[in-house]
Amino acid sequence: MLARKTLRLNSVQLKTIARSLSSVPSPFATLPEKQHATEQFKEYLTTTYINNSHLKSDSKEWFKVYDPATNKVITQVPQSTDAELDSAIQAAADAFELFKEVSIIKRLDLVFNYIEILKKNKEKLASLIVLEQGKAYSDAIADVIRGIQCAEHATTVVKETEGVSLEISNGIESKVIREPIGVTGSIMPFNFPVMIMLWTIPYIIATGNTTVIKPSELCPGSGALLAELAAEAGVPKGVINIVHGKHATVEKLSTDPRISAVTFVGGNNAGKAVYANATKHHKRVKVNLGAKNHVVVLPDVEKDVLLKGIVSGAFSSTGQVCLSTDVLFLVKEANRFIPDIIERVKALKVRPGFEDGDFGPVVTKESLQRLHDIIEDAEAKGAEILVDGRNPEVPGGYENGYFIGATLLKGIRPGMRAYDEELFGPIFGIVEVETLDHTIDIINKNPFGNSVAIFTRDGVAANKFVKKINIGQVGINSSIPIGIAQHGFTSNKASFLGDLHFYGPSAFKFFTQPKTVITSWRGYSEN
Ligand code: NAD
Repeated sequence: MLARKTLRLNSVQLKTIARSLSSVPSPFATLPEKQHATEQFKEYLTTTYINNSHLKSDSKEWFKVYDPATNKVITQVPQSTDAELDSAIQAAADAFELFKEVSIIKRLDLVFNYIEILKKNKEKLASLIVLEQGKAYSDAIADVIRGIQCAEHATTVVKETEGVSLEISNGIESKVIREPIGVTGSIMPFNFPVMIMLWTIPYIIATGNTTVIKPSELCPGSGALLAELAAEAGVPKGVINIVHGKHATVEKLSTDPRISAVTFVGGNNAGKAVYANATKHHKRVKVNLGAKNHVVVLPDVEKDVLLKGIVSGAFSSTGQVCLSTDVLFLVKEANRFIPDIIERVKALKVRPGFEDGDFGPVVTKESLQRLHDIIEDAEAKGAEILVDGRNPEVPGGYENGYFIGATLLKGIRPGMRAYDEELFGPIFGIVEVETLDHTIDIINKNPFGNSVAIFTRDGVAANKFVKKINIGQVGINSSIPIGIAQHGFTSNKASFLGDLHFYGPSAFKFFTQPKTVITSWRGYSEN
């Protein structure tokens, strides 16, 4: 049994919430687990979450959310009203005044409670991810586990935020302490609905801040569920608040004077706009953006290592990962592995997320159409389709789902969408090249800097690659070189805007600000 810590912050009232909003039961109490939306599926309510209460929005504007495996509506997301956005921010602002005073030991205790509750609810969270986002259940479990690892890292808060002090002269001391930054606003993408929220929530709790989070409108549920679980862990009212919507919500979170810092993870257009807007409004901002990720294969590669790397790099989470492999450069005789790659890719099965398969559908009908367009564009411009995943048969009531099988292109080049754009689906293209140096040059000229990998047994070549490549996360025989929770997500170039990265030690710096205290006791006589 968890010892619940009810902190005495309950004086924060619901008075700021638009009057007509009343608390509703948690939609997650009755939501069936591990089931796709079939004919009998009952739509559930996407709640707004303010002051530790699930609320039904007053909005007149609601967006439909579909189960990607069946194309059936599962819930609708409100465009939070102005009054609701205002209430959420005010609740966070009120709670901050109290929460910043809570001792670090108590906050640490809350994070430990939260970790335990997250672990207990791993399957529930993963189930919701699959239903709303579509990915394979095993990928959804990995999504949750990686998030929990960030929560575990957040327990290093004491070490990471401790101050420094120095006696600069007899009776004079200089001390620098780190204080919480205030209310933060966070804008989330669709592809890792739990992990990316946990890039912030546990750090918010650990550092004594409060937050208003906007989940992606494509998979909104995990926001309110993660907030509900935080409340269960004893996190006081107003610390974690969830609002919904599109542009109007993002605009409010980027500009409201009560918000001190903004985090965004998502695509380039929205991310760059958020960065410009929020910095203009004097907020601390960090923004993780899109990508174009390349993998280089040297001829001496171990075949099985390469094939395993390709499967996880291009197809895990249906290729909808900001570190997914888009382009595979085969240097010289590394092209002899093409038949093996074809065979391996052909063997992959796309299936509904709750069924046994290698990956699930893509997130929306529009994403599916975009991938078809990208393949057609490549074909029309002369690329070879080595494995064509279009229109796979997925029987059993999933005929209307957004499925595309593993797809392999060869001979993609600049001017083709497959070469130029981030793919974000279970597709990648092969390019045959002559030298490693030339390939490094091509990759360095690409504007993005999320991820790159080299596959080889040659340590000297790998070392040279690491030194010369200008990308923030580099894999050696590892195709998804995501920074671990303890180190942070170190993307660069056009994949990141800001100075302090997501999770890892930078997160503590981002959510706190230094204060210098110079103390002098000179001139006071002893008595
Ligand atoms: P997206 O940019 O479409 O949406 C992200 C968020 O921005 C959502 O909450 C959305 O509502 C909001 N948004 C979208 N358009 C907006 C607009 N015009 N104005 C204001 N807000 C807007 O991204 P997505 O499709 O959810 O996610 C996929 C993208 O995110 C990919 O490019 C991927 O590489 C990137 N991503 C990057 C990382 C990373 O860590 N670098 C991680 C995950 C995803």
